[in-house]
Amino acid sequence: MPLPYLLLDHLCVNYEAAGHVHTAVRDLSLSLARGEIGCLLGPSGCGKTTVLRAVCGFEPLAGGRIVLDGHEVANAQSSEPPERRHVGVVFQDYALFPHLDVARNIVFGIGRMARGERQARVEMLAERVGLAGALKKYPHELSGGQQQRVALARALAPAPALLLLDEPFSNLDLDLRERLAVEVREIIQASGATAILVTHDQHEAFAMADRIGVMHAGAIAQWSPARELWHAPANRVVADFIGRGALIPGTFRGNADGGGISLELGELAVSPGLADKLLRSAANDAYPVNVDVLLRADDIAHDPASPFEGTLVRRAFRGADQLYTLRLASGREVIARVDSELAHEVGERVGLRLSVEHPVAFATNAGGV
Ligand code: ADP
Ligand code: MG
Repeated sequence: MPLPYLLLDHLCVNYEAAGHVHTAVRDLSLSLARGEIGCLLGPSGCGKTTVLRAVCGFEPLAGGRIVLDGHEVANAQSSEPPERRHVGVVFQDYALFPHLDVARNIVFGIGRMARGERQARVEMLAERVGLAGALKKYPHELSGGQQQRVALARALAPAPALLLLDEPFSNLDLDLRERLAVEVREIIQASGATAILVTHDQHEAFAMADRIGVMHAGAIAQWSPARELWHAPANRVVADFIGRGALIPGTFRGNADGGGISLELGELAVSPGLADKLLRSAANDAYPVNVDVLLRADDIAHDPASPFEGTLVRRAFRGADQLYTLRLASGREVIARVDSELAHEVGERVGLRLSVEHPVAFATNAGGV
């Protein structure tokens, strides 16, 4: 395996306020190869911005180290100043200079360079972010998406070793976000930069990142490509955060060669791999094993012939399909993706069948997250 370009190694960051120490980032590790785009994904307050500030050099480390391109730039004892790290940053609020046109906003990022060379670089960057025709415009003449592209060009102007993006799309309209995320991914890849995106929006994370770290209370709960987070969440925190699923209790019976889980919506067949994991993580070798099963909208099908049912609580029509929120006999709620032609009324009972391709389940009381 090649050496990582960026290594965050057991990072700890504390804030002190009124004599009280608050640990904002705890024992956080991740690595990125050169040119890779990583993402920290998690709810507000989980420590994402603090990680970026530490990588920039604005927060001292209480523990761990940061290695960038083979150099240790920070540990608990010492720290390279921000200007020596060659890190570019794009914030949520663009932070463009309102009295400077696009060209001069971008030039601001370049620093020392011969005049002709600088002009060529501004043109190249404007071209790359799709604003070649807008060099003379002022920020207020641009849309939010265009302003954010200028901010990106400015951050890329000095060819930073590492580009950090802190919720760069959160001031933009929902439908623009995902599209811009894909565009920005292409721009970053064309520039060859290594980058970390921070967001609370999983669709942005999926659209943009090669690897995603789901953060919870200052720590990373799983660091994986999107596909793995979705199909093989390593723990409850990730299962809960990704994909609006419900965790529904059940009982596993079987052995290491496989078995089944009984749920209030029926029986699920369990593969040897999952059976083995459940048996091994059961508290005190308890048998049968109490488990929580992840059920997402695609895991539950409408089936009028099924003996299992739920009461329709809410429906969201989406055109090609619709989402039914259903209350089960236990009072728990699940979401099912159903045909857009179905027209049940709220309060009606709807026949349901499990349709789970790759079950995800966790033994309860197994310790950890
Ligand atoms: P996020 O970016 O994920 O919303 P932050 O990194 O901003 O999270 O904050 C993580 C935690 O650290 C929060 O509990 C926040 O209240 C706290 N925090 C952030 N900045 C400071 C600060 N300057 N002083 C004290 N506590 C802070
Ligand atoms: Mg933040």
